[in-house]
Amino acid sequence: MSGAKRAKELNETELTKVFSLLYDRFGPCHWWPAESVTEMIIGAILAQNVSWKNVETALGHLKSRDLMSLEGIKRVPAEVLEELIRSTRYYKTKARKLKAFAEYVDTEHGGDLQALLALPLWQQREELLGIYGIGQETADSIILYGSGQPIFVIDAYTKRIFQRLGYFDEKIEYQGMQQFFMENLPQEAKLFNEYHALLDSLGKSTCTKSNPDCSACPLAELCRYRNQAVMEG
Ligand code: SF4
Repeated sequence: MSGAKRAKELNETELTKVFSLLYDRFGPCHWWPAESVTEMIIGAILAQNVSWKNVETALGHLKSRDLMSLEGIKRVPAEVLEELIRSTRYYKTKARKLKAFAEYVDTEHGGDLQALLALPLWQQREELLGIYGIGQETADSIILYGSGQPIFVIDAYTKRIFQRLGYFDEKIEYQGMQQFFMENLPQEAKLFNEYHALLDSLGKSTCTKSNPDCSACPLAELCRYRNQAVMEG
């Protein structure tokens, strides 16, 4: 057996073990928390660099004004939209992003969001990344949770947890992390969906930025950060 293959099998086994431990603790998470694909996409854009609680406030405002649609986003004056999503920080920029997305779907796909979401995975990613305000994490969230195609979403929680577990160093970039998961897990949207949601649950509740609660963590046995702390402590 070649070294590369052995390494892949090892990684596969470990990633499956991490998933099982998280699932036993938190799952299933039923992500993405949205009533429609449009709401999911609007939520993904608003969620950039802000907590979900703040996003929920903004989504509630949009719903109460009957603006939870790309048509609604297009028609509402920018200043009004900014006020409605003020809770999400950088709200002026985010209002521009929402309008840019709605305009793009209108211009390039005749207003048919499903036509964009039906594009093959990598073609869709390229289109999404060409839209103002859509970065890699947002594009991948739209592909996975909006169109149901298998791409692994990387966010700050994923990076922090897997760095602490000992898989990634500080310098690793988005694509390197994504490639690692996609090469070592079966290409299944359902698995990627749940895995990402479980990592977010751990990152929010336990593997926090400062003072992670390692004694309550289901991954403690596997974690280099925690094991070092035990040895030093
Ligand atoms: S053991 Fe601690 S550092 Fe490691 S993943 Fe769990 S909470 Fe994070």
